[in-house]
Amino acid sequence: MSPHVLILGGTTEARALAARLAARPGVRVTTSLAGRVTRPAAIEGDVRVGGFGGADGLAAWLREHQVDAVVDATHPFAARITANAARAAAATGVPAVVLRRPGWRPGPGDRWHPAASLTEAAALLPPLGRRVLLTTGRLGLAAFADLPGLYVLARSVEPPEPPLPHGTEILLARGPFTVAGERALLREHRIDVLVTKDSGGAATSAKLTAARELGLPVVVVRRPPPPEGVTVVPDVLQALAALPLPGPAAEPHPG
Ligand code: NAP
Repeated sequence: MSPHVLILGGTTEARALAARLAARPGVRVTTSLAGRVTRPAAIEGDVRVGGFGGADGLAAWLREHQVDAVVDATHPFAARITANAARAAAATGVPAVVLRRPGWRPGPGDRWHPAASLTEAAALLPPLGRRVLLTTGRLGLAAFADLPGLYVLARSVEPPEPPLPHGTEILLARGPFTVAGERALLREHRIDVLVTKDSGGAATSAKLTAARELGLPVVVVRRPPPPEGVTVVPDVLQALAALPLPGPAAEPHPG
């Protein structure tokens, strides 16, 4: 029977990996999405949507669907599903790989302030600036809700969940973003501090370049560490190489 790979998705890398695996003869690939995004981009291979019911539910799913390998290609901040995947893989003996794009690194001219959490990021803000571009996603903005006298421009793909800081302006937008566009946004809203998670990747890194060019401070929320003992790879090619599959990697379908 064809080997069956389960990709835990929700990222660009997960989609790219699905395309590579779907193009490989004799491999069956299923991508799993949490179901948070209303119109997710098209994915090659099979797609399933919704939670599994914790690590035990995921382990049951792996057994029931005769999964031969799991790639956890979820977002670096999706810590719960990553922990569940590690536990389910250990419980079933199914080989698992964590695909995590590398985090961003500060360069000369960057004024970065690391934070361990959104709460810590909020605590760092008052001396850094009063007009904030918040790009930490639609969840967890309550951490900033009690800061008085801030102007907050909150950018996310889907509408953020309340409570929000008083007078928050919401900007719904999906990357990739350009440096010119980010520079214009920062200037137009007279932003004096940026808050971001260390998501990594090129699609949303332009804001960091624009902030550096304008001399703005950036509060960067650190990633949660991956679970102990898991194999972590930084890109799609290394994920493919780490999978126990027959045959060479194939090119994705055109288009
Ligand atoms: P999370 O806190 O780690 O996961 C919460 C629960 O959602 C999990 O316990 C699981 O439910 C379900 N879940 C998460 N990812 C799933 C997947 N790929 N397939 C099936 N169920 C999934 O995750 P999150 O931070 O809410 O993120 C949800 C999804 O959005 C992730 O897949 C992630 O790749 C994507 N995403 C997250 C962020 C972020 O900043 N966190 C940014 C961009 C995209 P059960 O326990 O019931 O299985």
